[in-house]
Amino acid sequence: MPSEFDLIARYFSRGPVQRADVLLGVGDDCALLEVPAGRQLAVSIDTLVEGTHFARDADPRALGHKALAVNLSDLAAMGAEPAWATLALTLPAADESWLAAFAGGFLALAERHGVQLVGGDTTRGPRSITVQVHGFVEPGRALRRDGARAGDLVYVTGTLGDAGLALLAQQGLFVGLGVLDGLRERLDRPTPRLAEGRALAGIASAAIDVSDGLAADLGHVCAASGVGATLFLERLPCSAAVRDYVAGTGDWSVPLAAGDDYELCLTVPAARQAEAEALGATLPAGLHWIGTIERVAGVRLVLPDGGTIDQAPVGYDHFAGDD
Ligand code: ADP
Ligand code: MG
Repeated sequence: MPSEFDLIARYFSRGPVQRADVLLGVGDDCALLEVPAGRQLAVSIDTLVEGTHFARDADPRALGHKALAVNLSDLAAMGAEPAWATLALTLPAADESWLAAFAGGFLALAERHGVQLVGGDTTRGPRSITVQVHGFVEPGRALRRDGARAGDLVYVTGTLGDAGLALLAQQGLFVGLGVLDGLRERLDRPTPRLAEGRALAGIASAAIDVSDGLAADLGHVCAASGVGATLFLERLPCSAAVRDYVAGTGDWSVPLAAGDDYELCLTVPAARQAEAEALGATLPAGLHWIGTIERVAGVRLVLPDGGTIDQAPVGYDHFAGDD
C-alpha cells in the first residue's frame, strides 16, 4: 500500500497551476506566499464530512470539484480574486482510484480559475475534506454582508432552485428525463460565480452566496446590515424545470429555501443601478433584479398574484440540519 507521502506526491505535489506569487508550494513545512502590494487577503474554509455533506458512494471526481467550488463561491461572494488553496484530507484508507478521481476534479477546477494548491494535510480516519482558499481584493471593495442600506436593489445571478429540484428528484420526485442531468450537474458540480463577484466588487453594497437558500441567505445580509427586504417571487430567475415544478405544485420552497445553488445574491445602491445592470448583461450568469431593501427588518415575499407572505417559509425537513 502506498504511503501517505507517496500519495501526496503523486496527486497533489505539482498541480497544473504554478503561480509567481508562490515562493514555496507543497513539500516544505509551510508554503511561502506573497500577497500583491496594495491588496487585502480574503480567506475562507469549508469542510465536507461523509454522511453529513456527501454519501459514501458519492462520485469522487464531482466531490473534488464541489469541495473547491463551495470555497471559491465564498471568495466570489466577497468580490475576491482566487489565488491559492490548501487541502486537508482525512481518508479511511489509501484508495488510489478514489484519490486520483478526487484530485482530477479538484485540480481541473483549480486550473480553470488559476488557483494553485500550495499545501495541506493527509490523515487516516472517517472521510472528510477540508479546503481553505485565499484570494485578493482591493481595500474598500470587498462585498461584505453588512453593507446593505434601505433603498438598495436586490439582485441574484443565474437561476435558483435547480440544485434543490435535483435533491427532490433523488428522493423520488419525477422530473422529465431530459432535464435530470442538467439539474444533477447543478447539485454535484456547482459553478462558483467568480467573474460576477469580481465585476460587482466596488459597486454592490453587500453580497452573499446562496448556499442555504435565497430567503435564509438574504436574511443573513439583512440581519448583518440592520435592514429588511421585500422579494417579488415572479421575478425569481428559474429554469424551465423549476418554473414547471412551482406552477404544478404552488411550492416556492425550491427556488426560495433549497440550498446548494451557489448563485450570488447582491444588493446595489439605487445610484449604481444602471452601472450594475449594464455590467450584469455582460456576465456569464446574468444579473436579475428580484427585490428591494427596506428599513423594516425581516424578509417579505410578494406572490405573483400580489398576495404577501410575511416570513420566508423554512425549507423542507430534508434540508434542515444541512450546513
Ligand atoms: P508536516 O508533518 O510538516 O505537517 P506533512 O507530511 O503533513 O508535513 O505534509 C508534507 C507536505 O505535503 C507539506 O508541504 C504539506 O503542505 C503537503 N501536503 C500534505 N497533504 C496534502 C494534501 N492533501 N494536499 C496538498 N498538500 C499536502
Ligand atoms: Mg501535516
